[in-house]
Amino acid sequence: MAVTHNITLIPGDGTGPEITEAVVRVVEATGVKIDWEVQNAGTDVYESEGNPLPPRVIDSIRNNKVAIKGPVTTPVGTGFRSVNVTLRQELDLYSCLRPCKYYTGARSLYPKVDLVIVRENTEDLYAGIEFEKGTQNALDVIDFISAKSGKNIRKDSGVSIKPISVFCTERIVRFAFDYARANGRKKVTSVHKANIMKFSDGLFLEVSREVATHYPDIEFEDRIIDNMCMQLVQKPELYDVLVLPNLYGDIVSDLAAGLIGGLGLAPGANIGDNYAVFEATHGSAPKYKGLNKVNPIAMMLSAIMMLNYINERDAAARLDKAIADIIKEGRSVTYDMKPTPSDPTAVGTSQVADEIIRRLG
Ligand code: NAD
Repeated sequence: MAVTHNITLIPGDGTGPEITEAVVRVVEATGVKIDWEVQNAGTDVYESEGNPLPPRVIDSIRNNKVAIKGPVTTPVGTGFRSVNVTLRQELDLYSCLRPCKYYTGARSLYPKVDLVIVRENTEDLYAGIEFEKGTQNALDVIDFISAKSGKNIRKDSGVSIKPISVFCTERIVRFAFDYARANGRKKVTSVHKANIMKFSDGLFLEVSREVATHYPDIEFEDRIIDNMCMQLVQKPELYDVLVLPNLYGDIVSDLAAGLIGGLGLAPGANIGDNYAVFEATHGSAPKYKGLNKVNPIAMMLSAIMMLNYINERDAAARLDKAIADIIKEGRSVTYDMKPTPSDPTAVGTSQVADEIIRRLG
């Protein structure tokens, strides 16, 4: 008898709920049995409950172990802490896994791209250790740093701290190598700026090199982040699995999404030792909220990663084929996958789901 999986479903805000609805429909059409536990989070929840990520959401994920999440808006310049960053830190989802694979028919200049970005998710400049310009704490930190380093920081500076530890680097690099091994990948590239930041990025490189010695079957190399960006634009087919500290991983994920035809096609997962939260790379695209316009495929591809994670491999493969077919055909796709964004033949979010469900039969 088929197992029923308990999965936390966070629709998100902005365009999140309409995308999520399309994703739930296609996943259910594969025949996999899922008991969705819907947990709202985000800006609307902030207004009604005073907290964009109430404890009930985290409790639900702790209980179910697996969640799929629509995007959530992070307003700029308010006290609102990013739901995404908090989730990753609370559940110790230390690996952000973002495969970027070209699907035939996608609007891309790079038909050979098949990259996997492994981004460290818990530290670096995302650790949330910041001191606001002009506050006593900022002035104290500036004085302390001047005393210890002999370097002057202007008093009118804001300060963000970039911690990179041996512990977190070791586990993310191991995750990258284990992923490479389990998925028939040949090479891991560690990306850094060790020539400038010797004690943070330098540590990342040194630990990467050490971990690599335990995986003699997988090729290892390193690249400096700026050079990596240029190489990805010029010859992305030379790269396979990339492992990066948090901030570079964030930026390179978007670059890689651009290589394969845009954010509408870039899936992702946040994975720790105990829990996994699947979500697309893109944000909540609030300007399109409620318009049934944006592309649900990135979140559908994230759902495929989730199906593989819960060992529903056949359903994952069938959904992947149905998606690959509609991309190849180019008819039932959203505006971002048409030759121009104003193409009148573009279909809406829910019509993409309808067509995929029709093909899943
Ligand atoms: P965004 O990814 O939401 O949108 C940028 C642009 O990309 C959109 O205007 C649209 O043109 C295009 N786009 C994005 N998703 C698309 C899709 N599915 N189909 C077609 N086109 C798509 O980025 P942003 O505007 O920088 O961020 C909006 C909000 O989302 C911010 O508050 C940001 O903090 C948040 N955000 C959330 C997540 C997350 O929840 N994981 C990730 C990134 C950004």
